[in-house]
Amino acid sequence: MNFDLPEDLLPLRDMVRKFAAERLRPHSRQWDRDAALPDWIVPALSELGLMGVLTPEQYGGAGLGYLANCVIMEEIARQDASVALLLAAHNGLCLSHLNLAASEEQKSRYLPKLAAGEWVGAWGLTEPGSGSDAAALTTRAVPDGKGWRLSGNKIFITNGNRAQVYVIMARTDPDKGAKGISAFIVERDDKGFSVGPKEDKLGIRGSDTVPLALDDVYCGPEDLVGQRGQGYVDALKVLERGRVGIGALSLGLARGCLEESVSYAQGRHAFGKPISELQAIQFKLADMAMHIEAARLLIWDAATALDRGDDARYKAYVAKLFASEAATRIGLEAIQVHGGYGYTKDFPVERYMRDAKLCEIGEGSSEVQRILIARHVLASATAGA
Ligand SMILES: Cc1cc2nc3c(=O)[nH]c(=O)nc-3n(C[C@H](O)[C@H](O)[C@H](O)COP(=O)(O)OP(=O)(O)OC[C@H]3O[C@@H](n4cnc5c(N)ncnc54)[C@H](O)[C@@H]3O)c2cc1C
Repeated sequence: MNFDLPEDLLPLRDMVRKFAAERLRPHSRQWDRDAALPDWIVPALSELGLMGVLTPEQYGGAGLGYLANCVIMEEIARQDASVALLLAAHNGLCLSHLNLAASEEQKSRYLPKLAAGEWVGAWGLTEPGSGSDAAALTTRAVPDGKGWRLSGNKIFITNGNRAQVYVIMARTDPDKGAKGISAFIVERDDKGFSVGPKEDKLGIRGSDTVPLALDDVYCGPEDLVGQRGQGYVDALKVLERGRVGIGALSLGLARGCLEESVSYAQGRHAFGKPISELQAIQFKLADMAMHIEAARLLIWDAATALDRGDDARYKAYVAKLFASEAATRIGLEAIQVHGGYGYTKDFPVERYMRDAKLCEIGEGSSEVQRILIARHVLASATAGA
């Protein structure tokens, strides 16, 4: 068993690390304050091939796997989690759904432009009345000739303001519960489609999070993604993969907190010596490091299982839950290491802590991950009995 990162991913890691340190870090504080990312971000990410990480080369993507994606997410989030979330929603949700279920025609039409970053993608499952209980969604897709007319509202949609292409889950068969949900491609300028104002959020403020309104939006048969009635099942598969990426985003934030804390503790003096020499501070740094090492192993294990094509659901729940909760806790401890300065915006750790909290909510809350883990553990015990 080898726990090291494969050698062929080292240049990718170093390239993204350099990019994040040089191009993102100097601006992250301002983007958090402005609650917006500049327009040059997507072209800059595209230049590195990051807008098509998981998309096969035949459609213009980089054709990389989930482990590579996790390396990228960690490195980007280390400096700016809003940029990482932009990538997570684009690659890990929208393109992931298209890669999984789209027809050949749909892939040829959409993937090259999305993978090149000419278009940005978004993914709409959550609604004002349904989040964790996503199968309760009420956006309707009413048959109209060979197509459908979509009406309803989505909320909390990442990249919603910036996207040109949206994968939208809607109910085609009202009496079939979760099996009555289908996925559709909606384009920004489709008649009846509109984007609401950006949410004013606690963290990940640079990333745009918006409500979407669909008012009798026509989708032809060519816009149905996957089989009719398979939209929810496919969405769960997308989330299984996506949440490993959110785990890696959490890991990047946690690592940022540790690195900033080490640097601060070595420079800050109290009682005649650097606070890094105080055992109370050392214990905090040690606990941070321990959780980061464990989170990374869980994430790489889950990502490697996905790359093998295994059923990685359980590994994904565990990795995402552990990493996201560790990141929030490490964020709070990093503020403590920084003392009063940690409570100001002069140091990035308060932002990292605010950013980390999202990872305990999005793509399956901590409570939902625990339910799924417990279900798996109990089913395994029953099967083994
Ligand atoms: C910044 C941000 C970006 C997002 N991006 C997207 C996106 O791009 N696309 C998209 O579709 N959605 C997106 N979401 C939505 C996100 O996935 C949901 O917020 C999340 O699934 C939780 O749903 P909810 O907010 O409706 O909370 P609820 O489901 O109402 O949950 C409220 C609380 O109840 C708990 N709870 C719910 N059910 C149970 C249960 N059975 N047992 C125990 N506890 C339970 C939850 O864990 C939570 O603590 C985003 C959200 C945010 C904040």
